Amino acid sequence: MSEHTVDAVCIIGTGLIGGSLALALRQAGFCREIIGAGRTEETLIKAAELGVIDRYDTHIPGAVEHADIVVVCVPLGAMRAVFEQIDAGRNEHTIVTDAGSAKQSVIDDAHAVFGSDLQYFVAGHPIAGTEQSGVGAAFPELYQQRRVILTPTEETNTDALDRVRTMWQAAGAVVETMSAEHHDLVLAGTSHLPHLLAFGLVDCLNNLEDIDEIFRFAAGGFRDFTRIASSDPIMWRDICLSNRVQVMAMMKRYRDEMVKVYRALEDNDGEKLKEVFERAKRVRDAFCG
Ligand code: NAP
Repeated sequence: MSEHTVDAVCIIGTGLIGGSLALALRQAGFCREIIGAGRTEETLIKAAELGVIDRYDTHIPGAVEHADIVVVCVPLGAMRAVFEQIDAGRNEHTIVTDAGSAKQSVIDDAHAVFGSDLQYFVAGHPIAGTEQSGVGAAFPELYQQRRVILTPTEETNTDALDRVRTMWQAAGAVVETMSAEHHDLVLAGTSHLPHLLAFGLVDCLNNLEDIDEIFRFAAGGFRDFTRIASSDPIMWRDICLSNRVQVMAMMKRYRDEMVKVYRALEDNDGEKLKEVFERAKRVRDAFCG
C-alpha cells in the first residue's frame, strides 16, 4: 500500500496560490505525484525547474485524466473555461476543487459546466496570500496555520469534502466550512473592500499634482495601508466583478461611515471623531491581540 494519502494531484494555475500548495503538499508527502497544468508553457517549465511540480501537461483534459484531486488556482474570470477543459478529461470520481477568492460565482460556473451533479466539486478559498504573483513567489509555508474556507453545497459528497479538507490540512492549514453566501459577505468586508480602498487611494493621490512630492513624504502608515494595491489587477478585477453585489453593499456601508466622519469634521466635532477612533481602536486591538 502507498505511503501517500492520494496518488496524484493536478494543479491548474501554478502561480502563487497553486505553486505554494504544490510545494506544501510535496513537503508533507501527501501524494506520489503533482502534475501542473495551465495556459502558458513557460510558467509550467519554470514550475518544474523550481521543483514545484513533478511534470506538466499544457493539455488540461490530459493533465487531469489520472488525477485524484484537481485544484484550480486561476483567476476567477478563467474558472468556467478551465472547468470545461477539466470536464473533457475527468472521470466520474475525480474530485475538483478551487482556490478562488469568491465562492458563489465559482459554484455557478461549476453548475454551468458539470451540470446538476456537483457531488465531486468542493469549492474552497485559502485565506492566505501576498501581494506577489507567479510561481517565483510561491513558498511552502504560505498556508501554515492559515484558514481555508470550504463552501460545500447540499450535493457535495462527504468523502470528497473530507479529502479536500485533508489536503489543506496536510498543507498546514486550519479548515472551516460555511455557505458560499456567508463566505462572500464576510470576505467582501475583510478582503475585497480593503483592496478597493487601497487601489482607490493610490489612484486618487496619483491624480493630484506634485505626485512625486507626495509619495516622497509617504510614511510607514501609507505603505502599510496601500501594500495590497501592489496586487495583481486582473485577479482583483475578477474578484470584484464575481462578488459585486456583496462588495457594493459593503461600499455603501463604508460610504455612510465616511459621511459620518466628514460631517464630524465639518462641524469641528472632536468628540465625535474621538468616539469613532476609540471604538475602532478597541475593536482592532482586540482582534489583533
Ligand atoms: P497568480 O500567481 O497570478 O497565478 C495564476 C495562475 O493562473 C498562473 O499560473 C497563470 O498562468 C494561470 N492563469 C491565468 N489566467 C489563466 C487562464 N485564462 N487560463 C488558465 N490559466 C490561467 O495568481 P494567484 O495569486 O495564485 O491566484 C490564483 C487564484 O487564487 C485566484 O482565483 C485568486 O482569486 C485566488 N487567491 C489568491 C490569493 C492571493 O492573495 N494572491 C489568496 C487566496 C486566493 P500564466 O502563466 O499563464 O499567467
